[in-house]
Amino acid sequence: MAIPIQFLTRFAIPLIVAAFYLEGNAPEQANLYSKVLEESDRTLSIANGEGEGETEFYDYIIVGAGSAGSVLANRLSASGAFTVLLLEGGGDPNPISEVPWFVDDLDEGGMLLNYVTTAQEKACITRSNGTCWFGRGKAMGGSSSVNGLVYNRCAAKDYDSWANFTGDQIWAFNSVVDAFKAIETYNGVYHENPSPNHGTSGPIYIGHLDYAPGFEVLEEALTEKGVPIGDLNSGEFPFGFSKLDHNIKDGLRWSAWHGYLEPILSRSNLKIYRYAWATKVHFNANRAIGVTYERHGQTRQVVANREIILSAGVIDSPKLLMLSGVGPSAHLAEHGIETVLDLPAVGTHLQEHLGVNLHPFFVNQTFSASNPLTPENINLFIKNTTGPLANMKSWGTYATHIAHGYFPSKLYNDPTWPDLHCYINQVFATPEGLPAEQQVFVELEMVLTNQEGTVRLASTNPRDDPIINPHFLENPLDTQRLVEGIEYVTDLFLNSTTWQRLGIRWSDTFEKIPQCEQFVFPSVEYWTCFVEMNTGPALHPTSTCRMGPNSEVAVVDSRLRVFGSTGLRVIDSSVMPFVPNGNTNLPSIMIGEMGARMILEEILE
Ligand SMILES: Cc1cc2nc3c(=O)[nH]c(=O)nc-3n(C[C@H](O)[C@H](O)[C@H](O)COP(=O)(O)OP(=O)(O)OC[C@H]3O[C@@H](n4cnc5c(N)ncnc54)[C@H](O)[C@@H]3O)c2cc1C
Repeated sequence: MAIPIQFLTRFAIPLIVAAFYLEGNAPEQANLYSKVLEESDRTLSIANGEGEGETEFYDYIIVGAGSAGSVLANRLSASGAFTVLLLEGGGDPNPISEVPWFVDDLDEGGMLLNYVTTAQEKACITRSNGTCWFGRGKAMGGSSSVNGLVYNRCAAKDYDSWANFTGDQIWAFNSVVDAFKAIETYNGVYHENPSPNHGTSGPIYIGHLDYAPGFEVLEEALTEKGVPIGDLNSGEFPFGFSKLDHNIKDGLRWSAWHGYLEPILSRSNLKIYRYAWATKVHFNANRAIGVTYERHGQTRQVVANREIILSAGVIDSPKLLMLSGVGPSAHLAEHGIETVLDLPAVGTHLQEHLGVNLHPFFVNQTFSASNPLTPENINLFIKNTTGPLANMKSWGTYATHIAHGYFPSKLYNDPTWPDLHCYINQVFATPEGLPAEQQVFVELEMVLTNQEGTVRLASTNPRDDPIINPHFLENPLDTQRLVEGIEYVTDLFLNSTTWQRLGIRWSDTFEKIPQCEQFVFPSVEYWTCFVEMNTGPALHPTSTCRMGPNSEVAVVDSRLRVFGSTGLRVIDSSVMPFVPNGNTNLPSIMIGEMGARMILEEILE
């Protein structure tokens, strides 16, 4: 019996990770591995004569193998009736990215587009002098191969708002819930008594982590405060707290690559070019006909018989459109690009969540081990992918999520569609001298906003990063939301008898920000200053090619076709009309499913 290659790959991961650690320097090993992957692809491509000879024709050309693009490549090639080309700028995921614990060690694995924003006056000041890191994944699976693994479906009202804006009820929650169900194999926190809104046999595995030190205490405190606990991913329970669902299966990452692409690599009608960077879409009048891409030092062109689909993500889909002459004509003229379609909304309505860390609260009880990277734990992971390394590490910190919660600010005050989201984290290790295992900290995020930013070209060189300006906190109401969020969380911890019993208090090391020293800590004035100095992006940007009712305010219609064009769609996180109130991976996968259904339906019409 043949053993599937993907099984071998997953089986090999713990061994490769072990090798990284035995060698002593995981990042360097990961870097080396990514170079080996790219060189192997180059050698194979030369051996196969890929891209040589006559111009290639495909029925569908998809740019970007991310959360949405992976779905499209699978669904459009499933019947065997159509030829599909998938162009992806990155390569196969580095093994290190499969291990939940190493979630923020990926730069060395060559899997990131390291974008940054323009200098912000009210964000990322203490973190990086106002310039925010705005990275995206560059690999098979895209950002789902590098993300924080949190599974979040967002509120039902998010999708209803998309339906209202586009005027098409196909995007209402009652409609998209079928696509969510088709995506999921749900084994999440509520797997013993799941909501009928969950699916049981889809390509994307939803798991739960048993390791949540301190959750019982949080549960008691929430009950004391009258805050409900339930399934935030059911579409029926928008306000309250829960343990987290994750895209983790058997201790390893479960991305769009694992769910949608790895199982279909042998389809003869699907061609995948890795390390292929699309630089331009070509038009004949308003019909999109072909794509130029660069791969292993060569520049090539391919032609689409039916459609070109941009799934290059929230930064690169608008960038590629603008490089191809589709965008705000005045901006295109600044760069000497001839306008093919004047669409002012391209790159114009960027939205993003904004987060602030409150850390730490101190308690007198020990919750967790302070250093999970012990030889025993590494061994445990190598042997059967369990233990702390199989758990999520909160992005950019040395802590793990134990729960998350939704609540509305007083300003906004809609418990059915909360604008604030938080993670409660247990700390593993901190600067010397602090008993890490006695700390709890909160990541607070503003998840609904009216603020919009822009993505613009810096030059006509397709390899140059674009100019990204999210205009963070330029609307004072957003600062107010976050301050109200801090007050809510502070009340939940400091004013609960449950936590008081454990001696809860701000630690002496609480990040007192020098720029805010003139204000009394804690006070509204202090928190306002704290928020403006200390926030950063949550890496869930959307809406740069948003769908909508017309070409004045949107880039694509509700069937994801670029206004004014034929043969061109955008299908990824950039088409969301507004940022939803939670993490954006599953919503992007859902958009991939919806887009594929639309294309296949139209063929039958
Ligand atoms: C660090 C990080 C942490 C995150 N954490 C979470 C989380 O915990 N939970 C969650 O739900 N969401 C999370 N997100 C967000 C979520 O993963 C994304 O919103 C989602 O994956 C976006 O999907 P997409 O299809 O729009 O684009 P992507 O998945 O980003 O895919 C775009 C793909 O296109 C490729 N590409 C771009 N330009 C070109 C080109 N010109 N030619 C060829 N290929 C190109 C890229 O290499 C990439 O593979 C996180 C994101 C990041 C970056």
